[in-house]
Amino acid sequence: GRYVVGIDAGGSKTHALIADLEGRVVGGGESGPGNWEGVGLDGAFDAYARAIDAALRMAGINRTDICAAGYALAGLDWESDVARLESVIRRLDLPGPYTLVNDAFGALRAGSTDGCGVAVIAGTGSTVAGRNRRGATFRTFGLGMHWGDFHGAAGLVWEATRAIGHAWIGRGPATALSDAFVRAYGAVDVPDLVERVSRGAAPPPNGRLARLVFTVADAGDEVACRIVRQAGEELGLTAAAVVRKLALEHESFDLVLAGGVFRARNRLLIGALTEQVRRCAPMARVVRLEAPPVAGSLLLAFDAAGVPTPP
Ligand code: BGC
Repeated sequence: GRYVVGIDAGGSKTHALIADLEGRVVGGGESGPGNWEGVGLDGAFDAYARAIDAALRMAGINRTDICAAGYALAGLDWESDVARLESVIRRLDLPGPYTLVNDAFGALRAGSTDGCGVAVIAGTGSTVAGRNRRGATFRTFGLGMHWGDFHGAAGLVWEATRAIGHAWIGRGPATALSDAFVRAYGAVDVPDLVERVSRGAAPPPNGRLARLVFTVADAGDEVACRIVRQAGEELGLTAAAVVRKLALEHESFDLVLAGGVFRARNRLLIGALTEQVRRCAPMARVVRLEAPPVAGSLLLAFDAAGVPTPP
């Protein structure tokens, strides 16, 4: 084969990208949620397979034309997940070697100049991962859907919903989030909204609701501002902990911000995050990942193929 494929799977979307060995991108594909913690192993297989098939179709090539793959997968959280996800990858039946990492390491590969630094990924969920120049790596727990998926889009939505409930019962200040969420859910009022949430009625996408929280915050709503600032601070404190684990405090390194939450470019969130990190690591360079994270998966595929990264 003369092509490599990168796969990036997240809590709400899965992407595949195919390039030839000179680095020309020839095809891409997208499918739905690909975190096996949310959709199960069969669901993850379907998501990966559909994104890859769409990319192969666009490229006009066959699976046998592939010579290596790179997988950056949300839901690769514990040692035990490696075997689990390797069995899913085997079912995809792509030839050649592959690299398999958590999506935060994919973001680090995509966004850092030398593969070193700290990546904060905040998509549906969040993880922080880093690597120092001695090759040591460290990452935080991926707590998946079960513990609230802190400070990613799902976490922001959770906090907003809680604040809306508190405002309604008079425990917390009134907030413009109430009207915004009622409308987004197509609910008639706050109790109707809370009933839908608590009974698990199909919610609007987390990404859309998270952007709504940013919009309400940008319009000056104090409750929304507090939620956004706190999410930034929390992500920053976690990133600072990873900085210390890897002894990067006195080095200059890339702090890569990746995932849908950062795509909104919210200055309050990014400012609060950066401030926390700079307190312990003044030389951190903030890099908001412009390329889609699947570009990192493609680089991982080149690594697996043993081909120097093309420009
Ligand atoms: C998953 C992690 C992932 C993170 C960001 C979390 O829900 O548990 O594996 O890195 O989301 O996508």
